[in-house]
Amino acid sequence: MNIDLHCHSHVSDGALAPAQVARRAARAGVAVWSLTDHDQLDGLAEARAAALDEGMQFVDGVEISVSWRGNTVHVVGLRIDPGNESLAASLAAVRGGRLERARAMARDLRAAGIDGAYAGALERAENPAMVSRTHFARFLADIGVVADTRDAFRKFLVPGKPGYVPHQWAALAAAVQWILAAGGQAVLAHPGRYGLSAGAMHALLQEFRAAGGEAIEVVTGSHSPEQYRHFAALAAQYGFAASRGSDFHGPEEGAEFGTLPPLDPALRPVWREWEL
Ligand code: AMP
Ligand code: MN
Ligand code: MN
Ligand code: MN
Repeated sequence: MNIDLHCHSHVSDGALAPAQVARRAARAGVAVWSLTDHDQLDGLAEARAAALDEGMQFVDGVEISVSWRGNTVHVVGLRIDPGNESLAASLAAVRGGRLERARAMARDLRAAGIDGAYAGALERAENPAMVSRTHFARFLADIGVVADTRDAFRKFLVPGKPGYVPHQWAALAAAVQWILAAGGQAVLAHPGRYGLSAGAMHALLQEFRAAGGEAIEVVTGSHSPEQYRHFAALAAQYGFAASRGSDFHGPEEGAEFGTLPPLDPALRPVWREWEL
């Protein structure tokens, strides 16, 4: 059964509406599907209705932006209550400041000779309050400064490159607590993407587990096959369940539904206790 527990709609930095994402997932053979927009729950009602229409089981999700020891890491919440007001209020606080950060990013890009990035990013954001690096990456690709959005995240928008502005997101333990208090399960997203040393990864996994984290993503569009094996071993070693999701953002933007391998059957999947 194809279970995909991580992706985005235009409610955050995805390119498609929640119902369109649902259709795309269903056509690719996904049977159990979660929409996990960044720091936002607004797409879940539309996603659930569309998923049921398409014959998929739906899992309410969210991906929370976290600052941890100077790194940005992401924590996915699965089976959260989409009506939990305290979670919604906490996420609103995390989202705050994106417009101001976008202005600072555009100033930095202007200093590097690229004009119009603020308007260009906002034009591409369905919800201006959720303007993200992805919208800047799409602008940079559209004006031909980079080959595609991947290339944008190599030459711009990352630490040490033009257009990068550090930001304070949620604290790790707080994000996990919000998810647990909303009845959900906390999953460390794409751990292979953070570029952490073995020692720092150990500290992150320990801290995440102590905070109540239950699973880590093993098979994700952000990992190489070698990383599937590496994080499968870490999940077993630390006693985490394992999760799987494409992290789909849009057509021709990297990961697609229905293309990733299944989880290693030796792992305990995050959905083991779910009634599927
Ligand atoms: P933000 O929350 O504004 O910092 O934007 C983060 C988003 O940028 C992530 O959710 C990804 O969608 C995208 N992103 C970050 N790093 C990369 C990367 N190396 N390649 C492609 N997309 C990336
Ligand atoms: Mn994203
Ligand atoms: Mn992420
Ligand atoms: Mn994501």
